[in-house]
Amino acid sequence: MQENLKKVCWVITNKCNQHCKFCFSFADEKDLSLNEHMKILNNLLEFGVNKITWSGGESLLIPHLMKLLNYANSKGVLNKINTNGQLLTSEALIELRGICGQINLSLNSLNPQSNKIMGKPQGNELLVLSRIPLVKMNGLRIAVNSVASGQNLNDFNELGDKLEEEGIDEWKIMKFTAMRHISKKNRDLFDIDYVRYQELYQGLQQKYPSMNIRAVTQKEFECNNLLVSPNGQIAITKDAEDYVLGNPLEKEVDVNDIYFNKN
Ligand code: SF4
Repeated sequence: MQENLKKVCWVITNKCNQHCKFCFSFADEKDLSLNEHMKILNNLLEFGVNKITWSGGESLLIPHLMKLLNYANSKGVLNKINTNGQLLTSEALIELRGICGQINLSLNSLNPQSNKIMGKPQGNELLVLSRIPLVKMNGLRIAVNSVASGQNLNDFNELGDKLEEEGIDEWKIMKFTAMRHISKKNRDLFDIDYVRYQELYQGLQQKYPSMNIRAVTQKEFECNNLLVSPNGQIAITKDAEDYVLGNPLEKEVDVNDIYFNKN
């Protein structure tokens, strides 16, 4: 079994408490119940999935998320969650301790003006920074996901200085990709070409040699992930388009088949 086969990004909701203009979440799909989520999870477990990144939308808006993580963890799954940080309170972290291996926090800039253009709420950068020590205090790995776009390219040095000081475990620099409805609509505002993105990434690697910095381009994003959409469809993404391969709520989906067919 190949390593990639075991890894899933589960977009468990498209609902969010923020309204980023570069967002590449799914268009409206209704959230599922705990029973429906459990059915999908058992399907994934049956075919050997052992790493799940719970994403959104805002994953922490799902009221039974902790139950899903708890069950997955009991079956040997490494859970990670993507969050914008707003709901990542001390209480939430106490629940996550022991059932979640890593928190991926979104932070694109420390510059309030850039964040405003990107659609972030006022003060978001300070809120996210305040979550980093909380995550570490609870013994979880902490990664920061930053979307590099035409609006924040000049902000990465200041951001890198701060993240280095905070001692995060991983910094993922994701190239803005016009994928799905909102990001496609705002493509002109955020697009950056691949050369500028590569220069940014290489410059950061040179400036912060001791930091674990990872480039996430569209190609890497697509190759590395099977997706589960909010309504349970299992999909792969190719050339910024989603291809649905089945829905465990209708019929068991063999992710082994999916993996070998997707390349
Ligand atoms: S980018 Fe993330 S935080 Fe922003 S609206 Fe989309 S899901 Fe929410």
